[in-house]
Amino acid sequence: MLEFTYRRIKVPLPGMELGHVNAYLLDCGDGYALVDVGLATYDAAVGLLKGLREAGVPPSRITRVFVTHYHADHITLLQLLSQLTSADYYIGEAELKAVGSNFDEFLANLFSEFARQGAPTALLEEAKRVAPMVRFRKAFEDIWQLEWKGVRDGEQLPCGLKAMWTPGHTPGHIVYVAKGGAFTGDHVLPKITPNISYWYKIEGYDPLGEYLKSLAKTKGLGVGYPAHGDAMFDLDARIDEILRHHEERLAEVEAILADGPMTAYEVARRIKWDVGPFDQLDVYNKFFAIGEALSHLVHLEFRGRARSMEHNGIVYWSRA
Ligand SMILES: [Zn+2]
Ligand SMILES: [Zn+2]
Repeated sequence: MLEFTYRRIKVPLPGMELGHVNAYLLDCGDGYALVDVGLATYDAAVGLLKGLREAGVPPSRITRVFVTHYHADHITLLQLLSQLTSADYYIGEAELKAVGSNFDEFLANLFSEFARQGAPTALLEEAKRVAPMVRFRKAFEDIWQLEWKGVRDGEQLPCGLKAMWTPGHTPGHIVYVAKGGAFTGDHVLPKITPNISYWYKIEGYDPLGEYLKSLAKTKGLGVGYPAHGDAMFDLDARIDEILRHHEERLAEVEAILADGPMTAYEVARRIKWDVGPFDQLDVYNKFFAIGEALSHLVHLEFRGRARSMEHNGIVYWSRA
């Protein structure tokens, strides 16, 4: 167990399959800290404030917030909290650079990349309507105005935490390491494999490759406290499971490419997803699935097992 006081507040995630996000409340001696906060919705706001009340900690005593990554369910409720207290806000330096500094460009690049990878226009139009980055646009605009402290890999932080940069799920994801345990955010989750997507072409960038390296890096940290679900008492075993899952998926994608050349979208339609066949998924999960297929294709290309060719603005993949 952690050798300092912490409490888990399960903040509701209305309308999202995950059901909740964990906000961890830490007693830092000179004040309190939260690791992640929640989604900017009514239910989440009430859930967080109720959790703080039950812990006997008024919001004004929160003096630090450590955010694991920029996703809406972890960060957007911060605007509310910032009205109730003056705190220091920490997030991965790479997250600020990749997303916070140019939100519009990030979004535009993301959607045009998915079009280049064969995603049909109708699917993209619908994805643009439901994507959390679009739905929570206002909250994002507000929170990027806060004064952030960019966290670097290995940095020693207040409250006895140390930052570990774990790119993969997002470019600047941070795992906050404490004595005997670590707050793993969405880097390692107990029940589902974290979505490893692909944002847009950054020369030499291989998100799945980065993620696999980040997984190896987070071994031996003790108990894992994830952003969704219960504590992982055997974090290393869970990491091994996720590593195996990606090796299997890489082999599956390589096998699918035997029928290539085809687009990442076509590959995504052929993958055997745990959540069901691609065509039966909702827009949200279809978008995730295409990103996931793409990150595996890009990684296979890095390993010399696949190659891509662009024709009339569309990318086609085949075996190397
Ligand atoms: Zn996430
Ligand atoms: Zn999450």
